[in-house]
Amino acid sequence: MGKQSSKLGPRELSDLNLQTNFTEEELQQWYKGFIKECPKGSLTMEEFKKVYANFFPRGDATSFAEYVFKAFDENKDGSLDFREFMCALSVSSRGTLDEKIQFAFRIYDLDGDGYITKPEMLEIIKAIHKMVASTMKSEHKKSTPEERTELIFKRMDKNADDKLSLAEFRDGVKADQSIVNFLQGLT
Ligand code: CA
Ligand code: CA
Repeated sequence: MGKQSSKLGPRELSDLNLQTNFTEEELQQWYKGFIKECPKGSLTMEEFKKVYANFFPRGDATSFAEYVFKAFDENKDGSLDFREFMCALSVSSRGTLDEKIQFAFRIYDLDGDGYITKPEMLEIIKAIHKMVASTMKSEHKKSTPEERTELIFKRMDKNADDKLSLAEFRDGVKADQSIVNFLQGLT
């Protein structure tokens, strides 16, 4: 790949416009900033962690950022290109509830087998606790990650097979919307 142009080509622009909830003008603005920050045209995991840490300056966001990165990195090449970055940003900032739920599910389903197991849920919840501990509402602080995992499974795991399908996860989140914020570390 040669030098990146500071403008998106018309083809990429209209593709992204279809795939995200951003206007063409917004996309060009984001692209300008993205290329300035990442002249290579993509973010590595380490770079992404730094970006993410800016959003959670008071906690330790590194573990959670890793999980988010893996969910964003659709082609699993270990870097986020502009398209992957914008798709993720679009869902988290302007997505519908369903899009957000699907996205959270992808983060939580660490091995990508279509189910969230208890160990997967626990791992992510621990990472969220590390990240938002200092800003967490006291109602969330009261429970440990283990207790919280149990509680979520008690509510969501309707067929009690110790794993959550997307349907169980979706129904559970819709029944208790506050959970969607917590699940994204936005408590
Ligand atoms: Ca899984
Ligand atoms: Ca289940």
